[in-house]
Amino acid sequence: MSTSEFSIIKEFFTVESADGFPPVVGVGDDCAILDVPANKQLAVSADTLVEGVHFLPNSNPELLGQKVLAVNLSDLAAMGATPAWVSLAITMPAIDKAWLSSFSKGFFSLANKHQLHLIGGDTTRGPLSITINIMGLLPTKKRLLRSGAQVGDQIFVSGSIGSAGLGLKKASSGGTDLSDADISAYLNPISRVDLGQCLLNVATSCIDISDGLSADLNHILKASGVGATLIHEKLPVTMSVRNHCKEIDDELWPYATGDDYELCFTLPKNMRIDALDGLTPDCVTKIGEIEEVIGLRIKMPDGKQVELNKGFDHFYVD
Ligand SMILES: [Mg+2]
Repeated sequence: MSTSEFSIIKEFFTVESADGFPPVVGVGDDCAILDVPANKQLAVSADTLVEGVHFLPNSNPELLGQKVLAVNLSDLAAMGATPAWVSLAITMPAIDKAWLSSFSKGFFSLANKHQLHLIGGDTTRGPLSITINIMGLLPTKKRLLRSGAQVGDQIFVSGSIGSAGLGLKKASSGGTDLSDADISAYLNPISRVDLGQCLLNVATSCIDISDGLSADLNHILKASGVGATLIHEKLPVTMSVRNHCKEIDDELWPYATGDDYELCFTLPKNMRIDALDGLTPDCVTKIGEIEEVIGLRIKMPDGKQVELNKGFDHFYVD
């Protein structure tokens, strides 16, 4: 590690806290050393976000610092894991201390909220990209998987669907106003960590929606060997998304847009969502049911059925 690299990590990315699960050895040595508590297992996920591919060029660094972490926290949420440790690698064209300071501020504002410890870092020269390796803890043998959905299960989503996709359109044409709910959903997504933990003992399957509801629910269906029908009128969408669908004359648009970072999960047939401990029923909506017949179908208000098998194309079957 060069001196400048070490000083960057020390200056911007060393925060010590006794909350959560502090590392035995953290940033500053060749490796971090971690104690995994007894009766816990590690949930581990890695993600790279590249400027111009996963986020817009010249993104606000503070919001970007929050978002790259939120996206990774969303994967822990989908497994029901408690966030514990994270490492961060930043590739950037040149050392920009103002950028790093803002990015670090956003990153730690969210990390501290979840008592997440940064345990390692790396900086390299090149086109702007950020790689995060996140680790969470699960009680031994308890986890949410994509593969447990059963015929008859109820299908739920959290939040509203399509807002981040519309936010991306607005942000791509220069929108930055976070009081606009769509722009906020895209630039500053909420990761559903509490919801994931609450579902840990009860949901039969779970995934976070990163590539679009139809693509991600199809992952559950495929892994579980089942199909599903969704009721279009039940899909939670905001008025602005509803209006956008009218403007482009595509009612199915919200199923195919990415970046929602909401959870899609299944509960056993007779389980009542309002009876679950710690869950706020108004943040989740039942949208359909798991069925034996393979495939994902949407029942439209006129009674027609649409088959949605991929994230970004759809066709009518009646
Ligand atoms: Mg995921």
